[in-house]
Amino acid sequence: MRFDVALGAAALLTACAPKVEEPAGPAFSRVVVISVDTLRRDRLTRYAPDGRSLTPVLDEMMNEGFVLDDHHSCASWTYPSALCVATAQSTLDLGFVPQVAGADDVVLYEGGAPTISDWMREAGFATALVSANGFLCSAAGAGTFDLELCGSGVASDVTAAALAFAAQQAASKRSFLHVHYLDPHQPYRAPPEFLEGQSELPSTPFDYQSTAGLVEIEVAWPDLTTEERAAVVANLDFAYDAEVQYVDQQIGVLLDGLRALDMLDDALVLFWADHGEQLTDHGQIGHARTLYVEETATAAFFWASRDVPAVAWSEPTTHADLVPTLLSLLGLDVPLNQITGQIIGTSAPDRIVIQSLASRDQLIAATRGDLHLIYNLNGEKALYRTSVDPTEQDNVYDPADPDVIAIWDVLAPMALRFADLTGATMVAPGP
Ligand SMILES: [Zn+2]
Repeated sequence: MRFDVALGAAALLTACAPKVEEPAGPAFSRVVVISVDTLRRDRLTRYAPDGRSLTPVLDEMMNEGFVLDDHHSCASWTYPSALCVATAQSTLDLGFVPQVAGADDVVLYEGGAPTISDWMREAGFATALVSANGFLCSAAGAGTFDLELCGSGVASDVTAAALAFAAQQAASKRSFLHVHYLDPHQPYRAPPEFLEGQSELPSTPFDYQSTAGLVEIEVAWPDLTTEERAAVVANLDFAYDAEVQYVDQQIGVLLDGLRALDMLDDALVLFWADHGEQLTDHGQIGHARTLYVEETATAAFFWASRDVPAVAWSEPTTHADLVPTLLSLLGLDVPLNQITGQIIGTSAPDRIVIQSLASRDQLIAATRGDLHLIYNLNGEKALYRTSVDPTEQDNVYDPADPDVIAIWDVLAPMALRFADLTGATMVAPGP
């Protein structure tokens, strides 16, 4: 189904336009952004291959909301991913590629591009940010919000802090609240009430609730038997899924709290996950490792109790599109001359979206339709057809494939820019 967001928002504003001369304000007086760290898309019932329901709160919102069903992160770790959302530009477009490094060693973007925080303040919104991930704060424009809490904390701490900020914002005519949950990020330590059934899992020698334990699994993985691997995956999935269930529950508590403050009826909610997580899918555990689908395909949707139609948007979208679409749904000016993201519904259905990662490997990837081409600047190339190979196990790269050649037409200049920004040597770019 096609839904023209720009026209939809315009029609909405026209319908709501007051009869007096006073200019119409934003279509919603409350904007709530909920983001979740390290949330695999296949853990949401809508995308779960086995149909399991771990996320009833998010599931219900998605059933009612405007859902981006072919959505991709710009990167597979928090900082570039969140920077892409906040600035509505990929890091390649910003001319800045952060290199994965220790928490104190990452060079942060200082280019001064405006962010969602700037645009919301200009539109008269009181702004607040709560995040348990400092990288998210840095990317989202920490220092520019009226209220900020950046640091650590489990999901219930984040919810409590967010609701305290919301209570302070209640008296404001317009408010913008960004809440970022970290919990699905390792170590996977969900509260005990989400661990029922753990004792029934097959026994293994590993600790799934510590980062050191996960490293031990990665080291041991190549030498494990098929049965041992199955036992590890069962335990790993259980620990990770418990975290997902916990965050979903806390999003429910957050929404109930906002409703009790009378701040949900006129709210537009944007949900996004910064990136996914490998759980041995390609022999590793974690993220910022690769650009495979489990790390880069992410969930994103818009929801409101009114005026946002239930839409399943099947064309490719990327994190840079979220804020321009949000601004459009609000009926605010979209600063198209300052961004490279697009208002959803205004781009070509066959557009190519790009992901990149500067880590142990220098990787850049392009998605078009069900094709995912991953290029390692060391010369390795892979192509996956996700419609028949949704977990990207079967590399079908063929340099003579017309689809491969067509993707390279777009990917090649982006790879050159990526190589320039990372200083990496590019081996055999092109089909
Ligand atoms: Zn993250």
